Amino acid sequence: MKTILITGAAGFLGSHLCDRFIREGFRVIGMDNLITGDLKNIEHLFQLPEFEFYRHDVSKFVHVTGKLDYILHFASPASPIDYLKIPIQTLKVGSLGTHNLLGLARSKGATILVASTSEVYGDPTVHPQTEDYWGNVNPVGPRGVYDEAKRFQEAMTMAYHTYHGVDTRIIRIFNTYGPRMRLNDGRVLPAFIGQALRGEDLTVFGDGHQTRSFCYVDDLIEGIYRLLLSNYHRPVNIGNPDEITIGEFAEEIIKLTGTEQKVVYKPLPKDDPMQRQPDITKARELLDWEPKVNRADGLKITYDYFRSLPQEQLYKKEHKNFEEFIRK
Ligand code: UDP
Repeated sequence: MKTILITGAAGFLGSHLCDRFIREGFRVIGMDNLITGDLKNIEHLFQLPEFEFYRHDVSKFVHVTGKLDYILHFASPASPIDYLKIPIQTLKVGSLGTHNLLGLARSKGATILVASTSEVYGDPTVHPQTEDYWGNVNPVGPRGVYDEAKRFQEAMTMAYHTYHGVDTRIIRIFNTYGPRMRLNDGRVLPAFIGQALRGEDLTVFGDGHQTRSFCYVDDLIEGIYRLLLSNYHRPVNIGNPDEITIGEFAEEIIKLTGTEQKVVYKPLPKDDPMQRQPDITKARELLDWEPKVNRADGLKITYDYFRSLPQEQLYKKEHKNFEEFIRK
């Protein structure tokens, strides 16, 4: 039985990865400091003998006893509002955390895959974004703490591969959605659905012409699985190229939820990227991967998930001064 360590195990993507690797017959060690993760996402796994969980902050030394075959480093705040709220932890988990896990991979002879992001492209001047585009990032802007941590993570991972011969993978994840996103994490999809469920107007930032391309979580997990089992060391984009403006996206959510509320416009947060669409030629060629779930189907499943949550979650305010905060 192969053993895999998954950091960020109680988070949105981490918990889906735990499920997938358990299904594939792995022994899974989950690790999370629960700053943004939630044990509810993995509580169904606690009864399984092949699953273990450790509450630990991976920016501190990481110790695992016994053999380890694979590491997936998915611990990090990932929503703009989260990393504005906890900027230092965001920088540390992407830098010190990555360093610790690369060291662990080296000592165990394990293969490590690190979760990078489309944010390494910043506000891109190349469209769609190919892996060889270097990006357009403001290091001292509000998103810099996340973007630069992830860029450092990529550099460190390549260095461990080149200088220490560690077997590494780098995935650049584009906007992903699905069940187990936090309803109040501030990202556009939970924000819109939460507003619709509470009977509030939908807040579009800017004029709504900025674009994103949304990938359903099951497709992303399949891409991660294939990349891990490949032998490719350079970054690979995984995302759904189906691009939409945020204004159109708000209209889709209004239709889906049947809400009678309208769209209201708020100022655009600083350094908010104007366009984003992955070029997935590499993933297609190397991994024979492409997304299968269209947005209408994925949104329906996600909406049903959010609707099934207890009412109190709908009204739980995680970010009090959200609007002032995001424009700092
Ligand atoms: N956005 C919005 N209304 C909201 C939340 C976000 O219009 O209530 C916009 C945001 O300004 C950005 C896009 O939706 O242009 C996606 O934002 P998100 O926070 O989901 O992630 P990002 O892709 O910017 O990292």
